[in-house]
Amino acid sequence: MQIQINNAWMELPEECSAKELADKLNLKAPHEAVSVEINGTLYDLDHRLKDKDQVKFLSFDDPKGKEVFWHSSAHVLAQAILRLFPEAKPTVGPPLENGFYYDFANVTITEADFERIEKEVQKIVDEKYTVKRHLFKDKKDAKNRFQSNKYKVELIEGFEEGPITGYEQGEFFDLCRGPHLANLGKIKAFKVLKTSGAYWKGDPTREMITRVYAISFPDRKLLKEYLHLLEEAKKRDHKILGPKLGLFSLEEEAPGIPFIHPKGMVIWNRLVDFLRALLLKSGYVEIKTPLLMGQELWQRSGHWTHYRENMYSFEIEERGFAIKPMNCPGCMLYYKTETHSYRDLPLRYAEIGHVHRHEASGALSGLFRVRSFHQDDAHLFMQPSDIKSEILGILGLVEEIYDTFGLSYRLELSTRPKDSIGSDDDWEVATKGLQEALEEWGEPFRINEGDGAFYGPKIDIHIRDALGRSWQCGTIQLDMALPEKFELEYMDKDGTLKRPVMLHRAVFGSIERFFGILIEHFVGRFPLWISPLPIRVMTVADRHSEYAHLVKKEIQKVGLICDVDDTSESVSKKVRNAQLLQINYMLTVGDKEVESSTVSLRTRDNFVFGSIDVPTFLKALQIEMQTKSLEPSFKGSVHAHDHS
Ligand SMILES: [Zn+2]
Ligand SMILES: [Zn+2]
Repeated sequence: MQIQINNAWMELPEECSAKELADKLNLKAPHEAVSVEINGTLYDLDHRLKDKDQVKFLSFDDPKGKEVFWHSSAHVLAQAILRLFPEAKPTVGPPLENGFYYDFANVTITEADFERIEKEVQKIVDEKYTVKRHLFKDKKDAKNRFQSNKYKVELIEGFEEGPITGYEQGEFFDLCRGPHLANLGKIKAFKVLKTSGAYWKGDPTREMITRVYAISFPDRKLLKEYLHLLEEAKKRDHKILGPKLGLFSLEEEAPGIPFIHPKGMVIWNRLVDFLRALLLKSGYVEIKTPLLMGQELWQRSGHWTHYRENMYSFEIEERGFAIKPMNCPGCMLYYKTETHSYRDLPLRYAEIGHVHRHEASGALSGLFRVRSFHQDDAHLFMQPSDIKSEILGILGLVEEIYDTFGLSYRLELSTRPKDSIGSDDDWEVATKGLQEALEEWGEPFRINEGDGAFYGPKIDIHIRDALGRSWQCGTIQLDMALPEKFELEYMDKDGTLKRPVMLHRAVFGSIERFFGILIEHFVGRFPLWISPLPIRVMTVADRHSEYAHLVKKEIQKVGLICDVDDTSESVSKKVRNAQLLQINYMLTVGDKEVESSTVSLRTRDNFVFGSIDVPTFLKALQIEMQTKSLEPSFKGSVHAHDHS
């Protein structure tokens, strides 16, 4: 028989399994061939191949490969815990973005148990079980097998019709739809991370059970790197750093809706000013649409049917209203306030739109998951022939913005899903437009087949921060539904009315979230141009206070933010305080400086530059501001006489 792998055909003996093929291809390293995708569906490695199958082996580096790896590791964790705590009732154990957890009822597990759990896991891995898949006859058959565990029985009862499977490794048998690692020996490193309480089925009215988080890798080095990353991430946590640096806070009275403090507003405004300057250069105009609009608008846009549980809505004078969760419907109404000719296209309407979306209390997280946020949104209206050039324009914007912060990014194209609206022709033109733009752009991009929205293909932009963590921020989505629903038109050359093609796009995504990412990316050490407090003047003694304030005034005159520390603390204490606030430049003034009309300059990195006159200092800083430099103008090795 013939199978297709890596776009080539390969001759194989009949009845060959994916595992045998993997061995033939020498995919034997622990991170290789952790799972196999056959004709787009994941299978266990012992699955027998058929003639004309399209085969793709997934490594641990593939997100889907990681899922299988971690999901299988969750089984090993459950097996180990059952050996140590036979009374425990395993419930569910899904993979996460980083690692996995397993929930157990009827047991208490603390940090003191972690080591022996890890030892037991190692033992199980060393026992080299063959993982076997078992197909149940029906629900009754499956319930019989799990009759001693009421949680599993409840899960089975909730299953939709379809095959029910379980997996066996040694004495451990678990309900599971698979697929699984064929060889548990691929698990080379395993770490229990933490435990927490969780409600059964996430329902606060049900019993509290124990959740055990863990992570595993095909290589010890990867675990070491991950643990280091965890430590670093803790230091950078914006939920801790943000309030400490006086940037924002979250108050009990407004769950999920941040208060942005004056220092935070400096950063906020710099981001928005930067964006607006770029929009102007790129041919956008800005609009502002209402926060609150009538229910019939949301019915027309489809939000009322599909998104209502996430919307804040209420009645006034017997008429239904909702606070906007998205800016699009407002922009559609704006488009209709005028008639448009093909000559006006493309039209680019930007809106820094303030939206509200209800998120469950448990899902809220600092600035990353909020109930109220601002999108740097835009809707672009064009003829089909403009798609490629408009996408290229957006990608240019994306690059300029992310580059400025030293964030690298990668692009993913998602194509037509099974359930979708629009004609084959429309999808063809749309997808081709996006793909051709990406090809011309020249950066490698990934294609997620069938992952597009029901209303059109999209490009997602994932950024990488200084820790190598990935965040989805920007998105470019082509929409065939809304222009139809709102009957948008333009007059074409031949005098007929046509529907414009519409793109939604955002680069920061949520400004709140991007702000949080920047706090973590820079660990609060912001580059000068967005620094909330770039300069502090510090006195040596009280008699230098007047001069310090004169220096401050001179600095403020050129538009830089500056404050004075003329408290009676020692200079070294003042330096320490300023460094804790990550103030970019510290200017000390004493007798010598007053006399020579200079300041003594040092940086938050402990670099002591020494004496400099204020105009020279300001000239350098103005260039640093204008170029949005990520590097300080004054830097060097730490001064030998440093005593702070
Ligand atoms: Zn499983
Ligand atoms: Zn939109």
